[in-house]
Amino acid sequence: MKIFVINETQNEDGQNSTNQERRCAAVPNTVKKFVRMGFDVIVQAGAGLRSGYADQDYQDEGAIIGEGLEGIKDADLVLFVGSPSQQHISLMKRGAIIIGHINPFFEKAKVRALAKADVSTLSIEMIPRSSRAQKMDALSSQASLAGYVMMIEAAAALPRILPMMMTPSGTIKPAKVFVIGAGVAGLQAIATAKRMGANVLAYDTRSVVAEQVESLGAKFLYIDIGATGQSQNGYALALSDEQKQLQLDAQQQAIAEADIVITTAQLFGRRPPLLIPKATIALMKPGSVIVDMAAESGGNVEGSIAGKTIEVNQVTVIGSGKWSQHVVKDATEMYANNCFHLIDEFSRSHKSEKSTNSIASLAVDLEDEILSQCIITHQGQVCNEQLLKHYEGIK
Ligand code: NAD
Repeated sequence: MKIFVINETQNEDGQNSTNQERRCAAVPNTVKKFVRMGFDVIVQAGAGLRSGYADQDYQDEGAIIGEGLEGIKDADLVLFVGSPSQQHISLMKRGAIIIGHINPFFEKAKVRALAKADVSTLSIEMIPRSSRAQKMDALSSQASLAGYVMMIEAAAALPRILPMMMTPSGTIKPAKVFVIGAGVAGLQAIATAKRMGANVLAYDTRSVVAEQVESLGAKFLYIDIGATGQSQNGYALALSDEQKQLQLDAQQQAIAEADIVITTAQLFGRRPPLLIPKATIALMKPGSVIVDMAAESGGNVEGSIAGKTIEVNQVTVIGSGKWSQHVVKDATEMYANNCFHLIDEFSRSHKSEKSTNSIASLAVDLEDEILSQCIITHQGQVCNEQLLKHYEGIK
């Protein structure tokens, strides 16, 4: 079986671009493991350059370096960080398997095109958040890094220090950080802010996380908005209009007093909720900083711009996006490991008796509790019930 690792770091004209993906879906160490399992691995030239790996590093572990996209044509498995382009889809052979961040709820046409091309698509976003799937869970690995990066970016943009400092020249009070949304990214932002010496407050509609927030030494803002709950997979449920208003009102004071606000709220398969309207930004002190993790997918903060840092009423609003790429070496290593574990879990490697070459294969077992959720196209069909309902507009 052949694995092809895509180079997503360049535009079609071969130029590096700052907005382009910097991560790679394989590192030399995962290539080594795939080769040992019996896979042939072809890495598109330059794929790891921006995460610190030269073509030679992959070659040293047994990969073949492929110029351009030639190698995708007969690949059985294609590894993406992001999602395939129309060109990739048209080149892949029928029955090929791809792994990547497909953004399937918002990419209906692409998902249908993948099904039509008879490509089996494993969507990273659909991997269940279970104990067994933890080592494959790239949403978590990348969100953890994002939480750290957002806090570092916010601290760098703030015109003051974070910890308390008592000196003969005066006493500086610790900065106040308010984190809204305490999932994987939020908890990492909280932990980072605490390590930097800030005074940290957090809020999440899932009250079960209060204990986790407090165990990190931060305070939890208790707001009574009535029953909220979470889905089977642990995702937050959307609030009613009345609940939304109660939340906006109750967190206004915490936002006004904060030096840094980090928003990480997401709703699985939906646009993220708006948490900070412009009127609330206007209450903040000049020089305060807001980081909107959701800027690229619709925004938790009114007026934030994906990929940009802007000023709103003298408040810096950061919407950089693709957060884990700011620490591309770690992001690539973690993502590559997640991909390896996914493939390892579902592959059967067995030596042919007559040949010294081993034969590896990847079984698409739709009875498996993980694969049944994250394989979204297979044998010419979109095969995920949740997505099909979403596409048909059924709640
Ligand atoms: P997410 O990215 O979907 O959302 C981020 C956070 O925003 C969540 O905590 C959510 O409750 C919160 N949120 C949504 N609307 C909000 C609002 N209006 N105001 C404030 N906060 C709001 O979440 P995630 O980080 O991907 O985690 C999703 C779930 O998966 C969590 O329950 C998490 O504990 C769980 N998880 C489990 C595992 C595992 O067991 N292997 C691994 C990772 C995550």
